[in-house]
Amino acid sequence: MTQRIVVVEDEPIIAAAVADRLRADGYDVSVAADGPGGVELCRQVEPDLVILDLMLPGFDGYEVCRQVQAERPVLVLMLTARAEESDIVVGLRLGADDYVTKPFSPRELSARVAALLRRGLRASPAAATVRLGDVELEPASRRVRRGNAEVHLTPTEFDLLSRLAARPGAVLSREQLLADVWSWNGAGGTTRTVDTHVAALRRKLGDAVIRTVHGVGYAVGDPS
Ligand code: CA
Repeated sequence: MTQRIVVVEDEPIIAAAVADRLRADGYDVSVAADGPGGVELCRQVEPDLVILDLMLPGFDGYEVCRQVQAERPVLVLMLTARAEESDIVVGLRLGADDYVTKPFSPRELSARVAALLRRGLRASPAAATVRLGDVELEPASRRVRRGNAEVHLTPTEFDLLSRLAARPGAVLSREQLLADVWSWNGAGGTTRTVDTHVAALRRKLGDAVIRTVHGVGYAVGDPS
């Protein structure tokens, strides 16, 4: 099945270059030029992935990301004009899964899209429910509950928690998590990305679920 991508970008030249490249690479691409149009387009198209410019008319990429993710989980790749860490951290906190800093080549962007989609679609190997204190993780349905309440995690948050939960008690370094979960192998990402997603998971699931092992990385479960 052809994978659907929504591009939300107000600069027509960039939007056209991105759309042309992605179409040439076999994706079904729809384009919106402002924030509200992007949210509406995602509602209609139900894309597999959204490419989101940060600075948009109407409302900005952060708000589009928030609204789109609130309706249904979807992979989000953010385009930022500045390499400012604050933009990137806020974007990742709001549910973006990866980002590309302008200027970029459409070819590079398409490669990042392919990597994200591979990761997003990768089936979880274990179907058994994983229990972490009062948190339950169902790999097959990608659902998470805390107590009796269902908790909404972004695809990346879910993958990060699953990766940690696959080896309870084991400490995984930020670099290892970046390589496994983001498929970045360190290139383009920073270990701050991992920290930001861990912080988001703690806000949603409580502080007890993921332990910080100072100087080493993160773990779930008791030390083995
Ligand atoms: Ca813009």
